[in-house]
Amino acid sequence: MSASSSPPPLGIAHGPAALLADAASLEAASAEEILVWVEQRLGARAAIASSFGVEDMVLIDLARKHAPSLRVFTLDTGRLPPETYELIEVVRNRYGIPVETYFPERGRVEALESAQGYFSFRRSLEARKECCAIRKVEPLRRALHGRDGWVTGLRREQSINRTDVAVVEHDREHGGLIKLNPLAGWSRQQVWTYIQTNSVPYNTLHDRGYPSIGCAPCTRAVKPYEDERAGRWWWESREHSECGLHPVR
Ligand code: SF4
Repeated sequence: MSASSSPPPLGIAHGPAALLADAASLEAASAEEILVWVEQRLGARAAIASSFGVEDMVLIDLARKHAPSLRVFTLDTGRLPPETYELIEVVRNRYGIPVETYFPERGRVEALESAQGYFSFRRSLEARKECCAIRKVEPLRRALHGRDGWVTGLRREQSINRTDVAVVEHDREHGGLIKLNPLAGWSRQQVWTYIQTNSVPYNTLHDRGYPSIGCAPCTRAVKPYEDERAGRWWWESREHSECGLHPVR
């Protein structure tokens, strides 16, 4: 697939079914081919959802080469580690792109913290999900509103909850837009080889044993034998190691 042979934008205006049918062939495509398809079919109507983990950095770098119209957004939960904010600044400067930032609704955060303190998520699974719903799930809904597609760095190898991740998904939870996971079949080694070969910047926490990075109080380093998301909400059982942004199958 090349930009010179690009067909006219299909877009959601032709119906999600047409778009999904067109995307079906991408299941076996390379990440580069998928991003070329996104550029041709969706352009700026799609965005990378980035938490600035190492997979997202691969996607941002690939997108600058193959899908320059693709937007980048992030969910600033208010609890991110300083290393993540530092990396976002590096990305802005290196790639010269805006990073669209979605913050939680102020009133809901104020109510949560006033009533339950700053660490309510430690008390129970329900309390943790409430915090994630306020700081992540609701902002994601706003971030996706009006878009035709989104691109994520999900990989099947990351955890037991992600083994079924498809390259192409119909995201009914967010209005039926298309969700693409170009790195679904990538190994951790492939990700790091790309980072090193292309001198892509990355979060310095990765060098300190954090394979997956989210909010500071809910993320810790993992042991070499643990799965990549074992440092997320480590006090809960592993089947709960998602925040609601990506449904568990
Ligand atoms: S990861 Fe932790 S701090 Fe962040 S939104 Fe979820 S519960 Fe709240």
